[in-house]
Amino acid sequence: MLDAERQSRLRSLPAVDAVLRGPAAGLAARHGRAAVAAAVREVLEGLRREIAAGGSPDVSGRAVAEGAARLLSGRGLRRVVNATGVVLHTNLGRAVLSERAAAAAARAGTSYSNLEYDLSRGRRGSRYDHAVPLLRELTGAEDALVVNNCAGATLLALSALAGEEGEGPPEVVVSRGQLIEIGGGFRIPEVLELSGAVLREVGTTNRTRLSDYERALSERTRAILWVHPSNFEIRGFTESAGIAELAGLGPPVVADLGSGALLPLGGEPLVQAALRDGAELALFSGDKLLGGPQAGIAAGSSRLVRRMRRHPLVRALRADKLCLAALEATLRAYLEGRAEEEVPAQRMLREPLEGVEARARRLASALSREVPGLEVGVVPSVARSGGGTLPGYEIPSFAARVLGADAEALAARLRAAEPPVVGRVHEGALLLDARTLLPGDEEAVVEALREAARG
Ligand SMILES: *Cc1c(COP(=O)(O)O)cnc(C)c1O
Repeated sequence: MLDAERQSRLRSLPAVDAVLRGPAAGLAARHGRAAVAAAVREVLEGLRREIAAGGSPDVSGRAVAEGAARLLSGRGLRRVVNATGVVLHTNLGRAVLSERAAAAAARAGTSYSNLEYDLSRGRRGSRYDHAVPLLRELTGAEDALVVNNCAGATLLALSALAGEEGEGPPEVVVSRGQLIEIGGGFRIPEVLELSGAVLREVGTTNRTRLSDYERALSERTRAILWVHPSNFEIRGFTESAGIAELAGLGPPVVADLGSGALLPLGGEPLVQAALRDGAELALFSGDKLLGGPQAGIAAGSSRLVRRMRRHPLVRALRADKLCLAALEATLRAYLEGRAEEEVPAQRMLREPLEGVEARARRLASALSREVPGLEVGVVPSVARSGGGTLPGYEIPSFAARVLGADAEALAARLRAAEPPVVGRVHEGALLLDARTLLPGDEEAVVEALREAARG
């Protein structure tokens, strides 16, 4: 594009004031002038960059005001309707808390608590003590520690192990098949480096034998790390050593399980089984299959847990009281044998297909009734566990399929609704999966589509 053309496009951008007085006046009344002015400036900045790069975006005041409205509506943490069929959707907040867990967190937040107070002795206590008896009973571990998340628990465990007395630079032995990236930049080799331990890789990507581990062991070995390859599968010519075999080698086995299943589901490794097999420490998330708040749980020998509790990093990784309260309530549901009904993630993952189909049909008929001009049907779909759990596990599901509109545009309008609805576009149609809908969500979806069809 000619420079002159670019210059003239840049000159045609509206002034902030003109947008505020004109098409964004209503917006300014709602959100306050300063917030809207900042959003308008941000949109104009984006348009300038687009023009500089040779684009020819819509530079009308109306388009700028719409862009600002989109920016403003996307900000702030809000309720979102998850119609993606991905139960533990990391971008949508992973596990939804049970009513009991949410109430416990609310109570811990709106009152004082014995967070770090020993009521029987009338003196300082520890925040780390409350969940310990529950975790011991559920996992069979001697001791347990709750920190901010599983990434933190892994870092803390490895740091504690790397700091142990011993010969030479501390080494941690890991299979090359388990040197994974979990997402969000959490890579096992980098976490190991951060912990101060030297990574001792063994085997190959697809095959690691027990003898590979054996050969790598020395007086420098502080631990064998077994990582659950949570978000991918290697198929074909593969071999790996299990926790039970590794536990026979001598050094402590640390099992980074991630997903944290306490109940059997889709062959996901169970925490209690990893410990029974001889792992000295099992690490898992609170907000994956456990279905609780964001947390990292370490369960295992009192020797290692004590080392972790005394490590200076524990202070930087500590879990807050809202999390601890919600986690305790979630664990109680498991102890009472009620987790499958009470914990939303467990309920969604296990709901019989008939129930999901009935919900999809109800939603589709409400949509056809309430939103004229839409072509809505019910189709089988595939839901997923998500959140780096059960990678190959497909959960049969049902979705309301919306045709008769530009699916991408419709999806964008649903995301702009209040509450926003997030579905998925598949083969030119918008799919609203019924497996991840919570009570009250169907009404919200109908309202959002009604608005979207009007707009
Ligand atoms: C998800 C996962 C983690 C990270 O858990 P967060 O609680 O998200 O920090 C660590 N290790 C494994 C194997 C995982 O699957």
